[in-house]
Amino acid sequence: MRILSGIQPSGILHAGNYFGMMKPSIELQEQGEAFYFIADYHSMTSLTDANLRREYTKRVAIDFLACGLDPEKAVLFKQSDVPEHVELSWILSSLCPMGLLERCHSYKDKIAKGISPNHGLFAYPVLMAADILIYDADVVPVGQDQKQHVEVTRDLANKFNDQYGETFVVPEPRIRRDVAKVPGTDGAKMSKSYNNTIDIFGEEKAIKKRIMSIVMDSRGMDEPKPDAEENNAIQILKNVADEQTYNETVELLKAGGYGYGHVKKKLFEVYWEHFAPARKRREELLANMDYVDQVLREGAEKARGIASVVNKRARAACGLE
Ligand code: ATP
Ligand code: MG
Repeated sequence: MRILSGIQPSGILHAGNYFGMMKPSIELQEQGEAFYFIADYHSMTSLTDANLRREYTKRVAIDFLACGLDPEKAVLFKQSDVPEHVELSWILSSLCPMGLLERCHSYKDKIAKGISPNHGLFAYPVLMAADILIYDADVVPVGQDQKQHVEVTRDLANKFNDQYGETFVVPEPRIRRDVAKVPGTDGAKMSKSYNNTIDIFGEEKAIKKRIMSIVMDSRGMDEPKPDAEENNAIQILKNVADEQTYNETVELLKAGGYGYGHVKKKLFEVYWEHFAPARKRREELLANMDYVDQVLREGAEKARGIASVVNKRARAACGLE
């Protein structure tokens, strides 16, 4: 089984990235041949500061390694080190009906949030299809927001195979129901570009401040809250707490007499503790940046070895060779 997933260096990584994509990806590295990339081409659709892109790209590598990505088991690389992704994207683009992209929610959500709609943002799912198909990937671990994009990938793979003969593996999304959509501090999907994130590796004070700012409803402390599971802070707590702590907190809220301030304080304590081992590994990595650079260099080489073969297969199938 080959596994493929990517993450954009469009900002600082957050709990939604971790539980939706990084943690499942790290677990899957034990079960197959895993390829994880830092989607720097994709980040160009929303980030236009070159230095920030460089900095965030490094940070994604450090943070992913700190969280447990093992370069002995999984290939970690930077998307633009494998320019074949872009060639295949053009090939697929020419088979992609406009309507398929016009229906994509992620694009519509982003422009609704005020991100200016450029062609790259509109065509994002086509590049993503190329990212996946160029590794003959079987499984794609992602959050719910990417489900539709993996469906576009499947459509494009089938279209190409119908038009030019069997060339691509048709991949399956792997979405964990319990972490499909981690809410941000405002209750919308936590996103780097929505300013509603809780960082994985922020300063203690800053993380506490973000957690204390999570939007709750206006019910008073004494009021019982039968819908406690729906609460934004509780949904995040579910990911970081052990079952007993989670159940106790939910029961306290349901019974009434337990305020939202208490919930947030508990969430902060558990959250900070949850990432303590990763924080320690991250300190070690920061002192050894040569190692991080080497991981990316070797990753790019391995990735390119596969991508160039699949790209050649596609070029031959459609008459470019
Ligand atoms: P941007 O706002 O720039 O799109 P993002 O925070 O959405 O950034 P991406 O790099 O687009 O992050 O996504 C990386 C992975 O993280 C994807 O698999 C995506 O599904 C997953 N992911 C992102 N946000 C969440 C979330 N709130 N809950 C679950 N998974 C998420
Ligand atoms: Mg996104």
